[in-house]
Amino acid sequence: MKNISVIGSGTMGNGIAHVFAMNGYKVNLIDINETALQKAIAKIGSNLDRQVAKQLITEAQKSETLANISITTDLKTGVSNADLVVEAATENASIKLQLFKDIDAAAPAHCILASNTSSISITKIAAVTSRAEKVIGMHFMNPVPVMKLVEVINGYKTSADVTETIMTLSKAIGKIPTLVNDYPGFVANRILMPMINEAIITLHEGVAGVEEIDTVMKLGMAHPMGPLQLADFIGLDVCLAILNVLYDGLGNTKYAPCPLLVNMVTAGDLGAKTGKGFYDYSGGGKELVVASNFK
Ligand code: NAD
Repeated sequence: MKNISVIGSGTMGNGIAHVFAMNGYKVNLIDINETALQKAIAKIGSNLDRQVAKQLITEAQKSETLANISITTDLKTGVSNADLVVEAATENASIKLQLFKDIDAAAPAHCILASNTSSISITKIAAVTSRAEKVIGMHFMNPVPVMKLVEVINGYKTSADVTETIMTLSKAIGKIPTLVNDYPGFVANRILMPMINEAIITLHEGVAGVEEIDTVMKLGMAHPMGPLQLADFIGLDVCLAILNVLYDGLGNTKYAPCPLLVNMVTAGDLGAKTGKGFYDYSGGGKELVVASNFK
């Protein structure tokens, strides 16, 4: 395995590209949006600077990492020499199904196709390709350069060889892979998202304010971040999309997204990436500021 194409250069894609490139792989980072690609390269650069400042890597390693990454908006050429594709585009089933049809047509026959989806069925994604046995979930955690876990998801037809290759590769890039089966939300989000949704319902029903809810979970349960701050960090649109997959896939009303979350996403307050969610990030400081809607 030498050439890795990463599709989608947003929150997750830039981190995935960073980690593979730092471990010596040649990475083609692909996005439909040229601005997103430029932002991703800038972000990877500043994250590498932080690693240099903390003496985790040298200046030379930073330069080698950046030299290992190329960017393109052309999917076809971007995957044409790939040994592995890791798709990290927007969490939307129709976008991903179309992408996997296109990737399957353009990538070499030996290439493994992985999705970083948080919740969409790997079996459903695999079914639109001609190589279901080579399709697998590779669910990295945010921020990718820091978080150790990769949730590896076996689709219904994923071959044992492909699972083994991805488990070994994950370890080779310094991660700890954990193998799970393909059911809505897998393990991580089946447990995390109902907690985040319940925190939003708790806020919506006026039980407590933003800071109080997050403080209870941080100090009471030793969570490094409260659930509302975490939701902002993940992206409220991503949280809503995952809850909808859980609700539709498991058919249980306990997964129904809180109407407040739906309203915030509809209004465009998606959390840190848009500058406002439960907290306001427009000041750019380290201090958490509760958004004006919740004061
Ligand atoms: P994001 O919105 O930050 O970035 C998505 C990127 O995909 C954008 O740059 C967009 O231009 C690009 N894109 C959309 N359609 C495309 C296409 N057809 N071809 C190429 N690029 C395309 O999203 P994100 O938070 O990085 O999430 C990406 C994936 O990772 C999702 O499946 C999400 O569920 C998953 N994920 C997210 C998190 C998180 O904390 N945000 C954690 C784990 C997994």
